[in-house]
Amino acid sequence: MRTPVPDYLEQVLGECDADDGAVADYIPELAQADPDRLAIAVSTLDGTVWTAGDAESSFSIQSISKPFTYALAIADQGLDGVLRTIDVEPSGDAFNEISLEPSSGRPRNPMINAGAIAAHALVKGDDAEARFARILALYSRLAGRDLDVDEAVFTSELDTADRNLAIAYMLRTVGTLQADAPDVVRGYTRQCSVSVTVSDLARMAAVLAAQGRGPDGTQLLEPHVSRQVLSVMATCGMYDAAGDWLTTVGIPAKSGVAGGLIGVLPGQVGIAVFSPRLDRHGNSARGVRVFERLSRDMGLHLMEVSEAARSVVRRYVEDSGAAVHEVSGDLRFVEAERVLRSLTEEPEGAGVVVLDLERVHRVNDVARRMLLEGVRRLHLDGHEVRLVDPSEALGEGRGGAGRGAGPDSGDGYAPERFEDAAAAVRG
Ligand code: GLN
Repeated sequence: MRTPVPDYLEQVLGECDADDGAVADYIPELAQADPDRLAIAVSTLDGTVWTAGDAESSFSIQSISKPFTYALAIADQGLDGVLRTIDVEPSGDAFNEISLEPSSGRPRNPMINAGAIAAHALVKGDDAEARFARILALYSRLAGRDLDVDEAVFTSELDTADRNLAIAYMLRTVGTLQADAPDVVRGYTRQCSVSVTVSDLARMAAVLAAQGRGPDGTQLLEPHVSRQVLSVMATCGMYDAAGDWLTTVGIPAKSGVAGGLIGVLPGQVGIAVFSPRLDRHGNSARGVRVFERLSRDMGLHLMEVSEAARSVVRRYVEDSGAAVHEVSGDLRFVEAERVLRSLTEEPEGAGVVVLDLERVHRVNDVARRMLLEGVRRLHLDGHEVRLVDPSEALGEGRGGAGRGAGPDSGDGYAPERFEDAAAAVRG
């Protein structure tokens, strides 16, 4: 069988083909772009990339670089350090607005140029070149290949960068920027000139969707960094169209003036679209329409999340009288609450209760603590709790991996662990 995914993407591009808007011309080289190109890529978290349209076309990343440089600034300076310099409030302004928060002199957010220039300067490096080398290295790691600068775009933008220079000098006057203004604008312009394809961008977006993990499982960005970046993309990524975008499309996104547009569906996919003509907000006109269409078809909107699975736990009683609670799936607060509800069916007494987590894949921190508390309370009620937890979802046992004493549930009580439910029932 041939997967229908690329055919579907091809169909969406076909239906969103009618274009309007105009290519950016304040950077002369961008005005040379073929305005009719249209491409899409969707990357799953395990690194499979589906494309359609002119997916081989490369273009400059432009403002889509901003979230990734912001991520590096946070990794380098810590979140508090970055927040002291750059705020996280949507500005409702255009991307190149020359404005700062009046009371603190901070740029309003890292997605407009003032904040992005400040974020660029927060990246560690002995000099401007070292700073840029680290930025390019991060983008390359996220994209899974060595990226390069489009020198023609770079020179063209640097020649006409008066407005960004004005922003950098303004940042210096309020003490937000210590480095040399032309140096920083040069570095920031180089970062905007990195050449990418939709596949590169979809892969980069997929790392954000995977809490900072690359397709091979390597942690490329800390989960809290990824969360911060996505939050800011959700509120500020589409400039003065951010509210409209969040209500209609409903996923964190970032656009670039060359016509690129990325969207991140946390836990699922990274998506990138390329079409150079821009709407009046400076966002790719067809890019926005393609995302609106995908969001509708694929149910991407983050505020439209389906209810958690109802049947995560099944209780049965063995001939020996042991009550087994067989749990399956990923456990978060809501699922853990269902498991606890199931455990409340055990009357006080000295019976054996088996908590079978063999079919559980992942347990987040709150769910783990809830289950351990359940174990502790069963024990207080007089039960002997036996645990089946081959992947150590509840934490490492006291007796090492596999069979033996399980993790401490509090009060010094550790349930005994068994390799499977049958062994646990036998005891
Ligand atoms: N390099 C561009 C600038 O600073 C990026 C703007 C954008 O993509 N919106 O003007």
